[in-house]
Amino acid sequence: MRIVVLAGGIGGARFLRGLKRAAPDADITVIGNTGDDIHLFGLKVCPDLDTVMYTLGGGIDEEQGWGRADETFHLKEELAAYGVGPEWFGLGDRDFATHIVRTQMISAGYPLSAVTQALCDRWKPGVRLVPMTDDRVETHVAVEIDGERKAVHFQEYWVKLRASVPAEAVVPVGAEQAKPAPGVLEAIAEADVILFPPSNPVVSVGTILAVPGIREAIADAGVPVVGLSPIVGDAPVRGMADKVLAAVGVEATAAAVAEHYGSGLLDGWLVDTVDADSVTRVKAAGILCRAVPLMMTDVEAAAQMAREALALADEVRTS
Ligand code: GDP
Ligand code: CA
Repeated sequence: MRIVVLAGGIGGARFLRGLKRAAPDADITVIGNTGDDIHLFGLKVCPDLDTVMYTLGGGIDEEQGWGRADETFHLKEELAAYGVGPEWFGLGDRDFATHIVRTQMISAGYPLSAVTQALCDRWKPGVRLVPMTDDRVETHVAVEIDGERKAVHFQEYWVKLRASVPAEAVVPVGAEQAKPAPGVLEAIAEADVILFPPSNPVVSVGTILAVPGIREAIADAGVPVVGLSPIVGDAPVRGMADKVLAAVGVEATAAAVAEHYGSGLLDGWLVDTVDADSVTRVKAAGILCRAVPLMMTDVEAAAQMAREALALADEVRTS
């Protein structure tokens, strides 16, 4: 079975770990979000690709959900001693090595997709991890700070400001001109099932879908497309997805996110058991829906969610 998953960072990575357990023989291609990418200290940092790679490769800081396990921060301290920031982005010593290797390879002319493959040669994530595009796309957020309207990089909004001011607009800068990375459209065309993990619908999955050709390829693939809600009990399980959902006029509920993707894209949607009331509303939007536990408390819980998603895909096929 060939499975394609559109993944952001933590939500995507934890789901993928479950999917690998649920479908050990499947051939899994992960299309990773690169809208969160940022250049820091002259280095190209790809937070979502790295979260997937470290999580599946056994190098993740489990508790935090991003960054490396057993991390130290000497380099960051030394940079700060020179007055060189930003100080609000947590790059540890071990993590820095990844960004140095990536930046070196990109400077040597390799596309991000080839660099990601090279990094994965070390981590062996057990999936094929492909960035959504080799072109530069950076998500920016329009905010008003002290009466001044400006656009800030997504990481500045998310990490520095902790989404403490309303997001007025979310713009994946560069997406319109971007081309899907090699292998992306091929993987979608050859997939038996396409999954949207409980990743951020706006700045993770939404950004991937903003690369011209990807949304269309998924809609036309003719195979079940099944998603899992990142919103449980009318709030994001982690993080501040409600802030960016508001920017695109979508309420933070499991049903509203399903409607936002729409039946043109989505065939099936899983909501948490606490949101069982919303199943009728999702079905009314023309999307098959089931309420099952959606909290990834451990790998087995995530694996059970993946089994439910694959079962719903089977149901889509026979319906
Ligand atoms: P990010 O790039 O690190 O923000 O990660 P993603 O975009 O992949 O996922 C973020 C989303 O995952 C957030 O909106 C969370 O609500 C959701 N999430 C995190 N943990 C869980 C969980 O255990 N269950 C569900 N249903 N969603 C989760
Ligand atoms: Ca992210």
